[in-house]
Amino acid sequence: MIEILHHGAVSGVTGSCHELRLSKADIGARGVSPRRDRPRSQIGCQNPQATKGADPLGSDPTLLPAPDSHLGILIDCGLFQGQEDKQRVNAGDLAIDFSITHIRALVVTHVHIDHVGRIPYLLAAGFDGPIICSEPSAIMLPEILEDALKIGFTRDRSLINRVLDLIRARIVPVPYGQWHEVFNEGECSLSVRLQRAGHILGSAYVECDARAGNYDERVVFSGDLGAPHSPLLPEPVSPERADRLVIESTYGDKDHEDRETRRYRLKQVLEHALADGGTVLVPAFSIGRTQELLYEIEGLIAEFGGFWSQLEIVVDSPLAAEFTKIYRDLKPFWDAEARALVKAGRHPLSFEQLTVINSHEDHLNAVEYLAKSHRPCVVLAGSGMCAGGRVVNYLKAMLGDARNDVLFVGYQAAGTPGRDILTYGPRGGWVELDGERYDIRAQVHQVGGYSAHAGQSDLLRFVEGIPDAPKQIRVVHGDDDAKRALQAQLKPMVPGTEVLVPH
Ligand SMILES: [Zn+2]
Repeated sequence: MIEILHHGAVSGVTGSCHELRLSKADIGARGVSPRRDRPRSQIGCQNPQATKGADPLGSDPTLLPAPDSHLGILIDCGLFQGQEDKQRVNAGDLAIDFSITHIRALVVTHVHIDHVGRIPYLLAAGFDGPIICSEPSAIMLPEILEDALKIGFTRDRSLINRVLDLIRARIVPVPYGQWHEVFNEGECSLSVRLQRAGHILGSAYVECDARAGNYDERVVFSGDLGAPHSPLLPEPVSPERADRLVIESTYGDKDHEDRETRRYRLKQVLEHALADGGTVLVPAFSIGRTQELLYEIEGLIAEFGGFWSQLEIVVDSPLAAEFTKIYRDLKPFWDAEARALVKAGRHPLSFEQLTVINSHEDHLNAVEYLAKSHRPCVVLAGSGMCAGGRVVNYLKAMLGDARNDVLFVGYQAAGTPGRDILTYGPRGGWVELDGERYDIRAQVHQVGGYSAHAGQSDLLRFVEGIPDAPKQIRVVHGDDDAKRALQAQLKPMVPGTEVLVPH
């Protein structure tokens, strides 16, 4: 039996975490048999010794077959960001609340925190298998987890270093397009192949060839898919086969503007700054959007020159700066257009007008300087949903001035200040930051295409491109409305396919 499980939905505070489970029981049984684990109480444990080698579910034989009767892999182990995040009361909620004694490996689709943020908790629960990911992800994963550990896990530097060493030792980089055997134990075997997902550098969708007895199946986990025509990265190509598909649906209910339209809108916002010496504040995630935007802004400056070369670009985030450097170092993974620019002598991610701010003191100085200066400037600072990070200081200093613009380029989860600014800003409303109200006089814009996520049509095209329609599609990872909307579009498109929204 080959099952797909979705972990973490019970507590509602976790990001992506799926399992592909092969059971030695019922060998020979054919057909899809989706089953979801029943809700359980919190049983996670911070002490590896406490769970290692024992099934934390206990010995009740009615719950599950004996622990050695199945084998599995996890696909991602993420931390949810957004509204539900506020309900989090303690780290115990983030502990791994499912059995992992049979888990042979973790496959990471990409290094966004909602896909990797719980890896430290997985290790704490006793997971000792390999962490399989693409070659760029292997470089970026310790960087992003170091940041996550500092913020949410511990301030103990030596503990952070120990966890990072552990993670580095477990990482197994696998080149795109190459099969990698995860296990082959008696009647059960499983191999995975990573394919470019075009979402952020290193992102992959995962093809799994699973065999349990005389039953075999190709299961594909999309991870997050990128939009076609994104700057920098090649677009994803549909899988050649998928008997079952688990697909993300962050933007399952809407389409983005095409690249020309959003480039034009970006140009308009920047022209506003150029005209009156205002600041364009872009709350941006460190990985993906920041680099895409730098790439587009460099392109605009190169195209229009003259007045445009006055525009200053500030990346105020040590992490974003670090990832921009990694993006720069990994040019072989860029798309043909970006590589052609480099060949022509351009430097899309390290141009003259670009300043990087690292220290907190420089950050505070920049906020003060920009609030008073009348020089046109673009500031990229995290967090992307304005729920913390350096962008908050900029917002406090700049929201009240009509010369300024706030440009959202990413998804804004309900309950975040980002969503409130987007909703109330255009009506002349206010937003609460650190317990205080700030009136919004700055212009507020949203340009969808830099979100690094595929839109609804892109997701449908991804499915349509699979030569034989999957027998089952599971729509995951998005607001309920987005999941339902994508489900409604998929059903008539692949009438013979069971289209599920798992809970
Ligand atoms: Zn992502």
